[in-house]
Amino acid sequence: QRKPIVAGNWKMNGSVELVSQVCDEVKKYSNSNVDVIIFPPALLLSEVLSENVEAGTQTISEFDSGAFTGEIHAQLAKQLGAKYTLVGHSERRSIFKESDQQVADKFAKAQEFGLIPILCVGETESEREAGKTEQVVAKQIKAVISKLGIAALNDSVIAYEPVWAIGTGKTASPEQAQAVHKFIRDMLIAYDEQVANALRILYGGSVNEKNSELLFAQADIDGGLIGGASLKKDAFASICKSA
Ligand code: 13P
Repeated sequence: QRKPIVAGNWKMNGSVELVSQVCDEVKKYSNSNVDVIIFPPALLLSEVLSENVEAGTQTISEFDSGAFTGEIHAQLAKQLGAKYTLVGHSERRSIFKESDQQVADKFAKAQEFGLIPILCVGETESEREAGKTEQVVAKQIKAVISKLGIAALNDSVIAYEPVWAIGTGKTASPEQAQAVHKFIRDMLIAYDEQVANALRILYGGSVNEKNSELLFAQADIDGGLIGGASLKKDAFASICKSA
């Protein structure tokens, strides 16, 4: 049985005050039935960890330490106590032009320093309309498999986040999301059944306290990656409860 994850991606939002408000509320829900993780802006990582809530970075550098001004070093995140990092979030791919290859390099660097990467994948609206959802998602995942092999997915998580559902209020229906999650799992079963069946696949994209329960009830949806609603303590707590 896969343990669900409810992860909050704060993006470039939040504050020192919000950390204590949200953490006070949600630490009650991280237990043996669900892993609750917050991905605050990197500057707030230690604040979250000091509240005894699991935390991670929203991205990391694919490089080792050196002259990379402004970058986030996976090894330092690990030293501070982070357990996870997102890699390949759609905003990193679209705004910061991260390629599938670069995302695979970041995935590798995370694991090298002992962080669990959460690989974000998903299609744009025009790709979905063109019937290319499966092709796009497969390509994003295969970039990691061809670099590191299928075994690398043992210590990782995948988040399916259709770009058209992010921050738009247009949630994928439970059936639409489940179909893509099942596609991902079936694709991975062809590589290694055990790895595929153990892998947690999260859904992200306009998840809120009203739709989370039905989404999380789907066979291949193992929790969620929550943006906007993770900044509201009551909404985020309800989502944690529904997992
Ligand atoms: P929203 O929940 O605000 O749509 O954001 C989803 C997301 O991008 C989480 O990583």
